[in-house]
Amino acid sequence: MKAVIWQGTNKIGVETVPDPTLLLPTDAIVKISSTAICGSDLHLLDGRIPSMEKGDILGHEFMGEVVEVGRDVKKLKVGDRVVVPFNLACGVCDPCKRGFFSACDNSNPNHRMAEALYGGVSGGGLFGYSHIYGGYAGGQAQYVRVPFADVGPFKIESDLRDEQVLFLTDIFPTGYQAAEQCGIMAGRDVVAVFGAGPVGQFAARSAQMLGAAQVIVIDRVPERLKMAEAAGAMTINYEQEDVLTALREATGGRGPDHVIDAVGMEAHGHGPGALLDELQVKAKISFDRITALRWAIMSCAKGGTVSMPGVYGGLIDKLPMGAAFAKGLIFRMGQTHTHRYLGPLLSRIEAGEIDPSFVITHRATLDQAPELYKTFRDKHDGCIKVVLNPWG
Ligand SMILES: [Zn+2]
Ligand SMILES: [Zn+2]
Repeated sequence: MKAVIWQGTNKIGVETVPDPTLLLPTDAIVKISSTAICGSDLHLLDGRIPSMEKGDILGHEFMGEVVEVGRDVKKLKVGDRVVVPFNLACGVCDPCKRGFFSACDNSNPNHRMAEALYGGVSGGGLFGYSHIYGGYAGGQAQYVRVPFADVGPFKIESDLRDEQVLFLTDIFPTGYQAAEQCGIMAGRDVVAVFGAGPVGQFAARSAQMLGAAQVIVIDRVPERLKMAEAAGAMTINYEQEDVLTALREATGGRGPDHVIDAVGMEAHGHGPGALLDELQVKAKISFDRITALRWAIMSCAKGGTVSMPGVYGGLIDKLPMGAAFAKGLIFRMGQTHTHRYLGPLLSRIEAGEIDPSFVITHRATLDQAPELYKTFRDKHDGCIKVVLNPWG
């Protein structure tokens, strides 16, 4: 089959590789009909995420048709059309049973690597996202092996197009969780969203669906701000105005009631031995890189929520905790518990409350992936979201 392959830092290619096969009785094989490039894939491209190996298949946002199931798979059948969450969960461990699927104890066979890098803690495994997250082959390919097939894949039984349901795999639930965990008081609360990338776009629209009186989106890329405006959000270009002043003025002086940081910082670490050095370097770098989080804390109204779908990976320096404490802020964060949201968000799509395909700016074939990774990275050509057809 054809697949998008990590060939080294800043080197991505399309190669012909062996088709995946069932390895465990709980696996399924999915023939992929659509797959997307995610902002977090760019951290693999530029080599910031350690433990990538030449030949790894990329991609964690994909959907398609079940073509083979292991003998212990009970819910899925050959021919089912499914979307597959980007994170893997076993469904039976304590975090999974409590709905914290992204913190699954059992889906990352390489958890010791992650624990060494991230201070003794590992989340669950991820598709196509390095060996510290399990070394699972990704879905920017024609076929993929899907472990825990009765837990993750979610059947699509309506006739919605791929483009309308594909983002249930990651960015729609990620934006939605970020808004949901703000505890928005409908008709009253103002929600600010830092970062107008795909997740920020979905966070803004989710905040609207949850009843926010006003949503304010902050970025510096004009076409991304325009996309947020099209949904009815107010926007602030932080290169043109002072963000904190603008947010105060827009909210009668109190600040947004909740703030979503859809920016995050780069994932952290380059090997256990280099950890201490890396932390010190990061501490300096993070002075710039946590700008969004610092603004979030400084702008948020008293008693508000700072919700962080943006990824943080290590230690953070110079965070205004005094301001957070004085205002009594609530911090919510973490990887998305995607599995929770597939059903409820599919219902919203079916009800016509949202059509997630609004975010797509580029459609291409798998062969064009290497070129489109660069277009997306460089934000060229108004690129916000790329969808690939593996059979085009
Ligand atoms: Zn993603
Ligand atoms: Zn689990």
